[in-house]
Amino acid sequence: MEKKDKEMEALAAEIISGMKDWRAQNPKATFAEIERETMKRMAALQARLMAEIACDSEAREWEAGAGPQCPECGERMKGVGKHKRKLQASGGSEVELEREYARCPACGAGFFPSG
Ligand SMILES: [Zn+2]
Repeated sequence: MEKKDKEMEALAAEIISGMKDWRAQNPKATFAEIERETMKRMAALQARLMAEIACDSEAREWEAGAGPQCPECGERMKGVGKHKRKLQASGGSEVELEREYARCPACGAGFFPSG
């Protein structure tokens, strides 16, 4: 199994145990409150999973020579490795990701995929 899959499993396990702790601290929580708390925590996992899936296809395409087009000169850009980047997910959670970063071989412009 890949390292990032393990990280995601750890995140899921953290949500489950975190919800159990939260329930223990909030024994009188209503169903609506439980739902809200669960969704808030799940949003972090959802954002992470979405980003992982997006990054995977990105990296594969770029390796195959189908990098994004340079916004400056129109040359085909090349993936030059991963850079850390923060992404805002719905529900307000922030996820730090390693995104593929591209550079233009012709003019040197850099490119981070959006979203
Ligand atoms: Zn360029």
